[in-house]
This record gives sequence, C-alpha cells and structure tokens, in this order.
Amino acid sequence: MDALDDTIVARGTPPGAGAVAVIRLSGPDAGPLLAKVTGKCSADPVQNPRRLILGWVVDEIGRNLDEVLLVFMPGPKSYTGEDLAEIHCHGGEAVVAAVMEELMRAGARGAMRGEFTRRALENGKLDLTRAEAVNRMIRAATREQVLGASRLLGGEAETLARRVREELLGVLARVEASIDFCEEPDIAGLDLKGLERIVRDVRLLLGSVRRMAQEELEVVVAGRPNVGKSSLVNALAQRPVSIVTSEPGTTRDAVRAGITLHGARVDLVDTAGQGLEEAGSLASREAERVAKEKVKQAGFVIWVSDRPGDKLPLEGERARTSLFVVNKVDLLSGEERSAAKSAGRLMVSARTGEGIEELSEFLGRRLGEEFGPADGVPLSSRQEDALGRTLRGVEQANAVLERRQPELAALDLKDALQGVADLLGEGVDVDVLDRIFSEFCIGK
Ligand code: GDP
Repeated sequence: MDALDDTIVARGTPPGAGAVAVIRLSGPDAGPLLAKVTGKCSADPVQNPRRLILGWVVDEIGRNLDEVLLVFMPGPKSYTGEDLAEIHCHGGEAVVAAVMEELMRAGARGAMRGEFTRRALENGKLDLTRAEAVNRMIRAATREQVLGASRLLGGEAETLARRVREELLGVLARVEASIDFCEEPDIAGLDLKGLERIVRDVRLLLGSVRRMAQEELEVVVAGRPNVGKSSLVNALAQRPVSIVTSEPGTTRDAVRAGITLHGARVDLVDTAGQGLEEAGSLASREAERVAKEKVKQAGFVIWVSDRPGDKLPLEGERARTSLFVVNKVDLLSGEERSAAKSAGRLMVSARTGEGIEELSEFLGRRLGEEFGPADGVPLSSRQEDALGRTLRGVEQANAVLERRQPELAALDLKDALQGVADLLGEGVDVDVLDRIFSEFCIGK
C-alpha cells in the first residue's frame, strides 16, 4: 500500500461506451490537478465545493478535449476523507482515456482496486464492515442482496459491534477491579445479563448468515418428456434457448440460460425428460442420469407436468425449494381448469404465454424468500470468524466467572474484544486488507 500523500485517479464507471463516464480523483493534489487539466469553466470548482460546474478538460497545449461536469469535495467531508474531485465526461473509451492521460500527466497515479474505499477506511470515514458492504452492494445480484448490503452499509453491524464493545469493556473493568483488590469477584454485581444480551445479539447477527444469498442460483426445470420444459424455459427466458420438438425426449443434455427473474439472477437449466412416475420409459438412460444429477444439485427445481392431477415428487425433501407447474393449460377444458385452480396449481401455457408473467413473478419472490437475506445481514466468512471469536470469548468468560476465576475471565473478555476489533477492521493485518480490497473494482 502506498502512502496516502499522493493523489490517485480512476474511472468510476465500467469500460465501454455509455452516456457518461465518471473519473474520480482523490488526494492532497486533487484541487491543483483539476485546475491543471481544465480550461474554461462556468465557475472555479475548487472555490465552489460540492457544486456541479460545467467546464472543459484541455490537453497539454490548451486544446479542448471534452465538455464535462466537475465537482470538488474538500476533505475531510468527502467519501475518502481527502480532497476528492469527480469529472463527468462523455462515456466513450477514447475520451475517457484522453482525460485520464491528462490527469496522469499532471501528476496523478492510477488507483489500485478498492483504493478509494481503502483510503476512506484509513481516514476513519467508515469501518471495515461498511467498506465491505460497498463491494457487496456493487456485486448484489438480487433485490434482497441489495437490501442486505444496505443494512451493512447503513452501519448496522458496526453499531452492534460498538455496543458489544461498550458492554464488554464495562464487564472487563469490574472483573479487573476484583483482581486488583484481591476480592472474590462479585458475580451477582457483574452485569451477566449484559453479557447474555451480547451473546444473543451476536447470535442473531451470526444466525442470519445461514440465509445468505447465493451469487448465482441454479434453477432446474424437470418433468416427463414432452410436457413442455424447453418451451417453458424459452418462455421464461423470453428467447429461444432450448430445442423444442414434438418428439419426446429431444433435450438430450442440460441446456442453460442466464436470466433475471424480478431482480433474482438465476441460471435456468433445462433437463432431458425425467419421469414423474414412469421414469425413463422414453428418454435415453444417459440423459435421464444427467437430469437426475442436475435435480439433486439444483438450488431450486421447477417440476413441469401437463396433467393437473400429477403430484410434486420428492415432496418432503425439496418442498421448500421446488415448485410444481402445470403447462399446456390451453389444452384443458374449463372444468379441468377450475379443478386445478381450486387445487392451488400454478397453471401456464408456454405456447400462448398465459400465466408466464405470473410464474416468473412468483418464482422471483420465492427465490428471494428462500435464498435472500430477507431479514438478515449478509456477513462474510471473515466477519463470521470475528463474531465467532467474540461469542466464544463471552461464553468462556461467563463459565469461568461462575467458577470464580476472574483472571481467566479477563483473558476471555479480551479475546472477545479482539473479535470486535477484527470485525471493525481495527489493527487488521495489511495482507487481510489487501485481500479484501483486491476483490473490489478499480475506482471504488
Ligand atoms: P420437453 O420435452 O418437456 O422439453 O417439451 P418441449 O418443450 O419440447 O415441448 C413438447 C411439445 O409440447 C412441443 O410440440 C411443444 O410445442 C408443445 N407445447 C409446449 N408447451 C405447450 C403449451 O403450453 N401448450 C400446448 N398446446 N403445447 C405446448
């Protein structure tokens, strides 16, 4: 990690053509560098902080390169805590490269991955849980992941960790006092209720990890040959991805399509026909085997049938992570329809499109509920380790206090405190930070 005394530059928007690209500049020379690369402006951005200024970026010999919007945010009240500037230029590759080149020529250094956020962390603008939340937010694949990341970003884990620390310090002070005065620790007087509360809070936060969303979810479409699985995949994907024929068992291998269902990004997998009750009578053995394997590994299964009377296989095992859909509803008589409807069947027609929108909405919601942290904060394994350390320390302190061993309790409490510090990123090793920020994009 370089010292913080240089000024870094990076594009904040992804490469490729777009309406606008944002170039960020952070460090002590952000103001002077901005002045060096700009020509005519509607006002001086440095003299008018936090205001969008219309102006021109010029090259070495004063030729106008691009008309841009500029904003200057002086430290410490900026994202990084340093002087920070943003240039909103036109979003083409060549224009971004030209503006970046001028800034580098003027003395800026290209930023490393996550360096803006790392500077924010080092300048105390945010703690490590919130720094990590920035990356989670950028990488969130579903609405639920966005909601989870926003809770971390809003400082939920940080606030809880600081409260845990307050309580731990209070208990530690009293335990240490009892050691200093060679007294029996007054167990009754110690706030063991406070400790229990800590354990509960930490457990709550840890428990939510189990529901953490997977980045990409495999949704397998299974069912007897010829019930319309391929057609359904096409209908859900809104583009042809599978081979549809009236010959039973035509989809030999798994065909997949990456699609977004109401905010949930899923990998839709079409399998060769797998029988519900008359398995394998028509499909080839190999395709059958692939299909079974796929169903076993899938995060979620959509069972398709064209008979409303069919039952969902593997009911108990997979009930929460599977869905039964009746296809070809266009072929059903009015009576059959109302019977199926009152049985609560999801009915669609891949051919006419009937019910497809409802199905994709229902699926998106189910996937969000099942795999998204609807009410939990998504913690990384690093955060889980840190909280685990706190939890163990508190539990052990509690146990040894009951055996009236304050010296041991003090050690355990200090260990618990170290877990809190790890969580907040205080005194964390440089290589741990290197690893965390290497997962960031450049410019964040
Ligand atoms: P798969 O073997 O389960 O993948 O089934 P396909 O998607 O290949 O479809 C089998 C046959 O059923 C094809 O002839 C499709 O045109 C037809 N089919 C699929 N969906 C529907 C539907 O909703 N209504 C009707 N009437 N036919 C359908």
